[in-house]
Amino acid sequence: MRFAELAAAYERLEATTKRLEMRGILAELFRPLPAPELGRVLYLSQGLLRPEYEGVELGVADSLARRAVAIASGAEESAVATRAKAVGDLGTTAQELLASQSRLPGGSPLEVAEVYAGFESIARAKGEGSQEVKVRTVAELLARATPLEAKYLTRFVVGTLRVGVREMTILDALATAFADGSKEERGKIEAAFNLSSDLGLVATTLAERGTAGLAGIELEVGRPVRPMLAEREPTLEKLLERLGGRAAVEIKYDGLRVQAHIPRRGPVRLFSRRLEEIGAQFPELLDALPAAVREGPSIVEGECVPIDPDTDEIQPFQEVSRRRGRKYDLDRIQREIPVCLFLFDVLLAGGTPVYGLDFPERRSRLEGLVAPGDRIRLATQRVVTTPEEAGRFLDESIAAGGEGLMAKSMKPGSGYRAGARGFWWIKYKRDYTVGLVDSIDGVVIGGFHGRGRRAGRFGAYLLAVYDPTRDRFESFSKVGSGFDDAALAAMPDRLKGFESDEKPPRVDSGIEPDRWFRPGVVLEVRGAELTISPVHRAAEGTVRPGTGLALRFPRFTGRIRDDKGPTEATTSAELLRMYRMQVRQAAPTSDDAPEP
Ligand code: AMP
Repeated sequence: MRFAELAAAYERLEATTKRLEMRGILAELFRPLPAPELGRVLYLSQGLLRPEYEGVELGVADSLARRAVAIASGAEESAVATRAKAVGDLGTTAQELLASQSRLPGGSPLEVAEVYAGFESIARAKGEGSQEVKVRTVAELLARATPLEAKYLTRFVVGTLRVGVREMTILDALATAFADGSKEERGKIEAAFNLSSDLGLVATTLAERGTAGLAGIELEVGRPVRPMLAEREPTLEKLLERLGGRAAVEIKYDGLRVQAHIPRRGPVRLFSRRLEEIGAQFPELLDALPAAVREGPSIVEGECVPIDPDTDEIQPFQEVSRRRGRKYDLDRIQREIPVCLFLFDVLLAGGTPVYGLDFPERRSRLEGLVAPGDRIRLATQRVVTTPEEAGRFLDESIAAGGEGLMAKSMKPGSGYRAGARGFWWIKYKRDYTVGLVDSIDGVVIGGFHGRGRRAGRFGAYLLAVYDPTRDRFESFSKVGSGFDDAALAAMPDRLKGFESDEKPPRVDSGIEPDRWFRPGVVLEVRGAELTISPVHRAAEGTVRPGTGLALRFPRFTGRIRDDKGPTEATTSAELLRMYRMQVRQAAPTSDDAPEP
């Protein structure tokens, strides 16, 4: 196919915003094309050379593109830049400049295949001298282009094709061109895309073998699956009702979704929710996955969250963002803020596609496939049948560092819905999150054996507030963050004489520490917010029967309050006031932001 035909189609597409019209133009464009040509046209029309997840880029900076336009048009580079700035589009500028030249394009008319091959060589050019190669290749293509072709060639090169065709419109057009246009056939096409994330593959398969051929598109390790997404319900009652009165509830981990592809042999690959390859950021997961996943090839999904290596507690997600873009000291960061992948689904298990199985069956396959360890674990799950049970699980989830719960359908038909948002998964978060401004003075009542670098000493402490009316020390937090080595080493000395073999009188907690301490030492801590907790006893029963208050993401400020005795610590009543203030200020969560 001539590139001029493609450019003409782009011109028509750009002139309309109507989806139906776009579908018609695209269907007309696609229908006569043989498979390989169709693939090229498809990628090009999305501004790509390969499926997006492969991350192939031309790597032509705007300045290089301007230079190529200058060479091809004979205009000064500065004039190209000035004009492009005024028009706001280098493509239109190239078109104008070439048109004003009253020149005839040199050489034979451009073919789509030639343009595509030219772009491929541009993408391949790397290292020394590659800039020149890129400029020259673009300039050569432009020299043979008509003004209209130049417009779209240039736009493609600078990554702003702007013809406005979206994936869904392309799928519609494929259905019109290669299927009977029925809902069912359209569904098959979309399903193949959701499984393969590769429109080019779907299109060429359709052109060669029709919709029947789509069944041959299966999961493949290294090719990401478009992720299944969740809906929401306003209350736990509605949520359970929606799922038929019985649901598997899981901790909703607040991290980064990861789809892990584990081949039988060779390197593991990790994809983000947007199908970007992100393995390089998490070398510890690449290391741990082949051992944890017993059999390849497999594709599993989970949420990646930072873990404090010393206390094994989930950390706020912001900790992970500190790792972003750090290529050089990744080693150190990896030791300080390692991540843990909590697996919640399996799509391919040892070569067998299992995504179509109902969720309970997938979960048991996942449990059979994975040997959990430090870095790779299974999402905590429980089956509930009442809103009360779900509520208790929610409290536990929050106390464990989760941001809410994920309820999953266990019904027949609960297979993995690639690329779809539906009520098979329902997310539920608490309806408030407000930062906690005040620090809290907590009394040490227990210690926990450290792990990792803190092995052989206490790595975290159990803290309590004081309730003067009941004369009780009520636990509200287990804190391990914020201690530097010196502070940690100094703690046992400070606590000397307060050790106790059993739970001291006046002390109350649903948590059993490795060592009890009689109330004596007061530490200043801060945290993200106060939440209700089934295991802590601070202000117990004031917010909800049987639950206390807990500090989420606690952190020692470094200050030991030697000036305070245990009964001068923060009181339960103060803690309750802080909690109520949070709730009063509360606004809906930002979870309703539009999806990317
Ligand atoms: P959303 O993306 O808003 O539809 O909500 C679902 C997101 O929650 C997923 O994309 C995951 O990244 C995340 N998530 C956290 N924990 C879980 C879990 N146990 N099961 C499924 N998704 C989870």
